[in-house]
Amino acid sequence: MSDHPAVLITGASSGIGATYADRFARRGHDLVIVARDKARLDALAERLRGEAGVAVDVIQADLTNNADLEVVEARLRDDARIGVLVNNAGLSVAGRFDRQAASDIARLVAVNTTAVLRLAHAVSPRFVEAGRGAIINVGSAVSLVPEFGQTVYGATKAFVLYLSQGLAFELGPKGVYVQAVLPAATGTEIWSRAGADPSQLPPMMEVGEMVDAALVGFDRREPVTIPPLHDAGQWDAFQAARLVMLPGFGQVTAAPRYKADA
Ligand code: NAP
Repeated sequence: MSDHPAVLITGASSGIGATYADRFARRGHDLVIVARDKARLDALAERLRGEAGVAVDVIQADLTNNADLEVVEARLRDDARIGVLVNNAGLSVAGRFDRQAASDIARLVAVNTTAVLRLAHAVSPRFVEAGRGAIINVGSAVSLVPEFGQTVYGATKAFVLYLSQGLAFELGPKGVYVQAVLPAATGTEIWSRAGADPSQLPPMMEVGEMVDAALVGFDRREPVTIPPLHDAGQWDAFQAARLVMLPGFGQVTAAPRYKADA
């Protein structure tokens, strides 16, 4: 694997994924870009070949479709030039839980969790064998805030955060770097695609600013990067508070407050 390994990016046809493609191309990385909209992928590939002089391959894939997912998995398993996986494709569904359509929720879970997991799983053995490689998983600050009322979306992103932290623990010592990126509201198509009411949208970070910040975290090998969080000590305190509970989980007797006569 070279110092400029190829980068496979899912959801590269728009927004954060397209911006990652632009930035990695300008750093001199060849790309494999993945999404459903082939016309947009082809246009991006042509632009980046011209502007950055890198090779760009396009894979048209619907990540809810098992056969398509298998094609991307095979590419990650077999193409030793790929040294970075950006698990970025994702979607949201507007509305309250009880009003969301089951089919929409299923699609959301398939793209935001199953595809992320399967692609990381496909590439990991090769990265471990090589003793290097990087996986960037795009999560969301929503994963930390059930109070936002985006329950299914936030739950999938909590999965992404846990997966990333767990993989960093398991694969980090084998030379594989795993980064969870937790953007907050960022100006992309995700809002209109989800059918969000434009008048209800929060203030947004510009997508280039978000990805550039995430790449600073990447270069520093941060395990978790939260571009909008100005006080990094708050995240550190949150992690420390979690770890303080660890010895408690090892108790073999129930806490006194759960005794029937308490
Ligand atoms: P976006 O502009 O809507 O981009 C989503 C990308 O995912 C598109 O390239 C889309 O491509 C792809 N995608 C969606 N469904 C797919 C499927 N079934 N198969 C393959 N690709 C699929 O939104 P974005 O904001 O850039 O989102 C990128 C990531 O950032 C997501 O994981 C999202 O959850 C996360 N995020 C976004 C924000 C935000 O405020 N924007 C905040 C936190 C986290 P096709 O339609 O061509 O398939």
